[in-house]
Amino acid sequence: MIPIRQYWNLLRHYLRPQRARVAVLAILLLSSIALQVANPQVIKRFIDRAVAGEPGLVGLAALFLVVAISHQAFMVTARWLAEHIGWTATNELRRDLAAHVLDLDMGFHKEHSPGELVERIDGDVTALSNFFSQFSVQVLGNLLLLLGVLVLLTRESAVIGLAMTALAIAAFAGMVRMQQIASAWWRDVRARRAEFYGYLGEVVGATEDIRANGADDFIQRRFTEMHRAWLPWEIKGRWGWSVLWGTNIVYFAVGNAAIFALGSWLFNDGRLSLGSVYLVFFYTEMLRPPLDRIRHQMEDMQKAGAAISRVRELFGRETALVDAGTASLPDGPLAIEFDRVDFTYEDGDDDGRRVLHDITVSVAPGRVIGVLGRTGSGKTTMARLLARLYDPERGTVKVGGVAAPEAKLSSLRRRVGMVTQDVQLFHATIRDNLTFFDDSVTDDRLWQVLEELGLADWVRAKPAGLDTVLQAGGGGLSAGEAQLLAFARIFLEDSGLVVLDEASSRLDPATEQLIERAITRLLDDRTGFIIAHRLETVERADDILILEDGRVIEFGSRRELAADPSSRFARLLRAGIEEVLA
Ligand code: ATP
Ligand code: MG
Repeated sequence: MIPIRQYWNLLRHYLRPQRARVAVLAILLLSSIALQVANPQVIKRFIDRAVAGEPGLVGLAALFLVVAISHQAFMVTARWLAEHIGWTATNELRRDLAAHVLDLDMGFHKEHSPGELVERIDGDVTALSNFFSQFSVQVLGNLLLLLGVLVLLTRESAVIGLAMTALAIAAFAGMVRMQQIASAWWRDVRARRAEFYGYLGEVVGATEDIRANGADDFIQRRFTEMHRAWLPWEIKGRWGWSVLWGTNIVYFAVGNAAIFALGSWLFNDGRLSLGSVYLVFFYTEMLRPPLDRIRHQMEDMQKAGAAISRVRELFGRETALVDAGTASLPDGPLAIEFDRVDFTYEDGDDDGRRVLHDITVSVAPGRVIGVLGRTGSGKTTMARLLARLYDPERGTVKVGGVAAPEAKLSSLRRRVGMVTQDVQLFHATIRDNLTFFDDSVTDDRLWQVLEELGLADWVRAKPAGLDTVLQAGGGGLSAGEAQLLAFARIFLEDSGLVVLDEASSRLDPATEQLIERAITRLLDDRTGFIIAHRLETVERADDILILEDGRVIEFGSRRELAADPSSRFARLLRAGIEEVLA
């Protein structure tokens, strides 16, 4: 259980902008309750007049109709308004959470799977929507209804009022107790279900391997076993709810019996009219739904509590990359400087293995550095430090003469253009993939960039030009083609440093040619940090950096290194770079 204060704070924060609507909702609700308890009074009068043979029955019937219909109309409007308020508030919360999560560091994103984050940002918040829209309204409204009914019952007869109050209290207590038992059983059922579906997901994902290895029978057997273990829990869980439901009915059957007994006694005594007996019976029936709804809301509040604490935890998580810098990067090509940089990926709680050791490298503005090294040597990691996706453990990384933490993060990211090894594409049009859904970029500008990079013909050849819809994850495009699109992304921003992590897969000759042309244009008047997997790319470099196990083993001008037969680079060239580094 979380403190009531936290519920209240959240409610207040997200409902405050909708004060007016909330007020209207309260009025609607109160009026609807008033109408609901008033209507039986009309029936009572109708019965009494009918019994006494008095006139005016048609008028009462009409009044009954008007009251009943307005009650429904108020309820429907209140319902609509409550949903509106709830969804407005939760959408706001969703947006705040998504923005917060996007700001968190890469370490956080590695710790949490996308599925988990979706569940946090959407699942938990959806679970809160009922809390926002219904909770206060339902609890307050139903309490008032309950109170109103009990007061009116007491007005008819003190004995009956007392008896029904006792019944309501006993029924509520009994229901809460039963619910605790049933919920605990139901939790067990849910745990079994989650376990089973987890297994099912695994199996479906591994269908190919299971078939190929002839493991079908074992999998099938495990399926059966899990189902067999699950069944008794399911029966128990469902039984719990049935008992809860049954208890409820029994309480009110007893209540009704009591009302009939008391009513007939008081009627025979002449202390209650026939209309009043009917009224009392009607009100007793009206006690049950509010009790049920309040109980339901209490249950919901517990669920909301779990969601609120998870949401708060997420909000409480601070990014390891504090955006406290104020400096903007200079215009034009940017210098790069690594000064005695050590780096380790933190893996959850335990410290990972050091990935970069004492890296010192500097590149003058406008030059191109080619970075070589076997897989796992730390090339991509260096690139990530340049875009400040991580901060180094020790040492400094400077871009354009500004230490990364001192630069404004937005300025740094805008001026450092990065093309990653596997470019992420959205399931969206080429246009949206290039602009990241920024509508302010005009098609003219896009075509100009594509033209400049030599990609215009390639895009024109696509079925719908800029409107061609790409598959998420790059399906339908080769790795090289995806990188081509990423080049255009960089061109649209005014980057002064291009970080290119070349795709290590082989390219077809046509794409290769396009890439060559595009890189040439891209590096014009920009500094380049190129992780090269192909000889052609290496040959563009002014400087060469060779990494091995996170250490610099060679760094210098390409020409000099190539000319020195004892250098690692020269040996690499002789052996064939593609063979050695692939
Ligand atoms: P490749 O040529 O295969 O792309 P690379 O030189 O780019 O290799 P890096 O990706 O920088 O190598 O990886 C260096 C080391 O850091 C590797 O041992 C890798 O397992 C580890 N590593 C890379 N990314 C992460 C990460 N996000 N979290 C933890 N460890 C990582
Ligand atoms: Mg890499």
